[in-house]
Amino acid sequence: MNTEIYYMVLKANPNDVNFKADTVFYACWVNDYNPEDALLKAQFKAGVYGFSIQDIVITSMLVHESDFINSEHELKCFKTAKETGFCGLVYGEPNDTTDKGIHTLNATGLLEIQEILNIMKKSKLKGRCLHYDSGNRCTEIINAHSIQNKKMLQVIAENGHVIVPVHDYSTLSKNAGKSTYDKRGINKVSTFLGFCGKHDTELFKVIDTAELKPTDEQVFLYSYRSLCREYFVKENALNDFSQMLSKVNNKAIKENLSLIRIGEESGFLLLKNLKKEYDELLKKKNFSNIEYLLFTSGQKPNMAFSGIINPDYDFEGNLLQDIANLSIELSSMTICSAPMKNGWGFLIVWLKSSSEICNQLIDSLIRSIKNGKSLPDMLFRLTLTFENHAFNPTFWENLSLDSKNQITKTFFIPADIFSQTNENVSTGVENIINWEFQSVIEK
Ligand SMILES: [Zn+2]
Repeated sequence: MNTEIYYMVLKANPNDVNFKADTVFYACWVNDYNPEDALLKAQFKAGVYGFSIQDIVITSMLVHESDFINSEHELKCFKTAKETGFCGLVYGEPNDTTDKGIHTLNATGLLEIQEILNIMKKSKLKGRCLHYDSGNRCTEIINAHSIQNKKMLQVIAENGHVIVPVHDYSTLSKNAGKSTYDKRGINKVSTFLGFCGKHDTELFKVIDTAELKPTDEQVFLYSYRSLCREYFVKENALNDFSQMLSKVNNKAIKENLSLIRIGEESGFLLLKNLKKEYDELLKKKNFSNIEYLLFTSGQKPNMAFSGIINPDYDFEGNLLQDIANLSIELSSMTICSAPMKNGWGFLIVWLKSSSEICNQLIDSLIRSIKNGKSLPDMLFRLTLTFENHAFNPTFWENLSLDSKNQITKTFFIPADIFSQTNENVSTGVENIINWEFQSVIEK
């Protein structure tokens, strides 16, 4: 997995833990990709256990099993962190540094994993029709595919399975607390209960029963479907956080969830406004209010994807828009793969209202190509900035371990809530994807 164990010792307030010692130390082992994120996690865990940290005595030191062979407790902690992602122990000084002085930690007010799973499962199954004209007649909600199913997902699948990023709790517990890529059935990935059968069939007929030509209507609908899937997922996430917040009593976790919720809330508001804009155009059948770039490939696809992003940096590493600034109306673009008559297309779409930022991103793409950067590498990096992407299993199996690790890190590190790493489309995952593009269609 390419992670390391980082060891740190934090000085805590003795009153927090009711110790008869002048000084209390909180030692922890964190399994992580980099020392900065490991330290943040340790500090968060300290909060969960009710400590206020007075000082950092040892900060994120890279350690190995051999460093702890002289202490039974520490060795055990090292091994636990390797398996589960984290382990901490607390001891006091003076006269409290022996194994006898090591105390077991108990946190209160946590949410049971099963409870979190139940909340998330419930909202995932809460179907609703996102069509602008939805109403009482939308009774039969279907499991709609957000990635074109027949000619895209089914083409890259083997025995009905594809490789996707997974970060459900059962995977985390099996994989040292780390998210990873794994095989899943195509009916479990990329589907969402976001439309009733009637509206789904009616609305997406021109992209589900015909290859991308492209017409403006087709391009618009691909973009709209990427948006709706994200809308569905974000609305669920927001409800999940509210429910978890109402059930959790641990102060540190509550604070952390509240912070995440603020981000989720503003993210959802943005999507809500954008969906309104799309819905208005859809009602009027005004499909010309879009701009797009389509790269066509004659190859058999090895990846399928559909997502929406707010580009923050361009391909040369320059800031485009500060996505942490909740007061600005962020520009968005959708990215998806679509089946074409002789192969497939990499489709990037945005509304005219987002054209200033999106054009800047595309300009940097063109400059980078002129400077010798690889177009497939750059486009591949774009697909790793959103979750809804899948690989052909054989393509994935044939990648070297190093390539798999690079992909895993590129996607999962910025996605981690403790991560301070930005999504970076200017470098990384070079020479992994083998796409060849014949032409580009632009509007
Ligand atoms: Zn409906």
